[in-house]
Amino acid sequence: MGRCIERVELRRAGLRFPFPQNFAERLTGAKVVGLSRRAKYILVALDTGMSLLVHLGMTGRFTVLTPKGVSNLGEFYFEAGAGASADGPHDHVVIHLDQGVRLVYSDPRRFGMMDVLATSAAGEHRLLKDIGVEPLGNELSSAYLAAKFKAKAAPMKAALLDQRIIAGLGNIYVCEALFRTRISPKRKAGSVRLAQLEELVRHVRDILNEAILAGGSTLQDFQSTDGTQGSYQQRFHVYDREGEACANCGAAIKRLMQSGRSSFYCSHCQR
Ligand SMILES: [Zn+2]
Repeated sequence: MGRCIERVELRRAGLRFPFPQNFAERLTGAKVVGLSRRAKYILVALDTGMSLLVHLGMTGRFTVLTPKGVSNLGEFYFEAGAGASADGPHDHVVIHLDQGVRLVYSDPRRFGMMDVLATSAAGEHRLLKDIGVEPLGNELSSAYLAAKFKAKAAPMKAALLDQRIIAGLGNIYVCEALFRTRISPKRKAGSVRLAQLEELVRHVRDILNEAILAGGSTLQDFQSTDGTQGSYQQRFHVYDREGEACANCGAAIKRLMQSGRSSFYCSHCQR
């Protein structure tokens, strides 16, 4: 934050999509004035009224390279490991900041994307405009869900995974929230009463906050920027526990495929 972008080095024509026209030029000389997130998109606000939009795809990551003697890069900065460089075959974008600080974007599979947009019109960007409410934001409420689920014949599982309703609520968290609320993943979304939706919203928030405190869930090869692994997976009640005893009633946890994803649930507790 507060740093100036002195130069943007693009080593290919694009990632998942081509870089927009004059991409590097539109960032050069701007000062970073804000950082925010919308669903899985990162927004870097600049003092020019523009924002850099980034999605890390599946394998994208940023590494900060600092020359000796430069410090105070903020609480989210962790020193890059020994041997970190900007010269790897997957280092596609290097953003040169003032004082010789380099922000290196690496992405082996290149499913990530970058774009530049007007900060004031970010909500209308084609990739952002249909995204539902943030699960930890104030807009998620039982009344909001009731309105969205009204007359919906889709099962709860599909309705909660629908990104146009709630942004970025992953499969694991949907399974766990439905278990805590005792709602079957097969239940028609339109049939869930307001009081139960109220409870569901509370559990969604609790579960996400617990996961954040635990450093996220590590099912694949996720690592934090300081190299530590998340530990939330140790606390799942139903997720990935097919055949194990339900913590409430002892019945075996079941697994069901819904919209191409596994649902784990207790058919005795969840109705
Ligand atoms: Zn049970």
